[in-house]
Amino acid sequence: MKREQIEAFFATLKAANPTPQTELEYTSVFELLAAVLLSAQATDVGVNKATRKLFAVANTPQAILDLGLEGLEGYIKTIGLYRSKARHLMEACRLLVERHGGEVPRSREALEALPGVGRKTANVVLNVAFGEPTMAVDTHIFRVSNRTGLAPGKTPLAVELQLMKRVPPAYAVDSHHWLILHGRYVCLARKPQCWRCAVAAYCDFKPKTTG
Ligand code: SF4
Repeated sequence: MKREQIEAFFATLKAANPTPQTELEYTSVFELLAAVLLSAQATDVGVNKATRKLFAVANTPQAILDLGLEGLEGYIKTIGLYRSKARHLMEACRLLVERHGGEVPRSREALEALPGVGRKTANVVLNVAFGEPTMAVDTHIFRVSNRTGLAPGKTPLAVELQLMKRVPPAYAVDSHHWLILHGRYVCLARKPQCWRCAVAAYCDFKPKTTG
């Protein structure tokens, strides 16, 4: 995909959805961090169902610690891998209290030092909570970037670095939401819906599907 096409690609996605949001529900930076940590290999809908009840009773690191491990597991056991996620979240809460006064730090290094928080989760928090132009490459972004020719790469990190280079600065902060939503609802994994795709004219994928 050439530079002019990349510009048009994002201008089109922006026109359709000027202020894209994450589909995870949260009302604070800590709730966002906890929701993202719980969302690995789970749907946002499933995570939201659990966190609505959890955050109603515990939405700070100290409050989660006060629940205890079994108490926390009771709220999140509908989410896949809940036992290891519960352990990670408890340990992350302990470190947030001990090292950061119960606040979520705005630094990649400090975020990635938390159990259960890898590069992707740190990128989501830095982007969504702090407005930084980071690129959290999930399965949708990885697929869309490769399939369209926007930012080809063999690994999520390679795609992330390509996107950081190729996405025009004006779209950098919101581009990760546009790409996720595009992958989730139009450029689907099994069969992309090219016949109803607003950015088909800029995409390298051939042959286009016809319904
Ligand atoms: S034209 Fe098809 S392959 Fe290209 S972005 Fe749209 S849905 Fe995906």
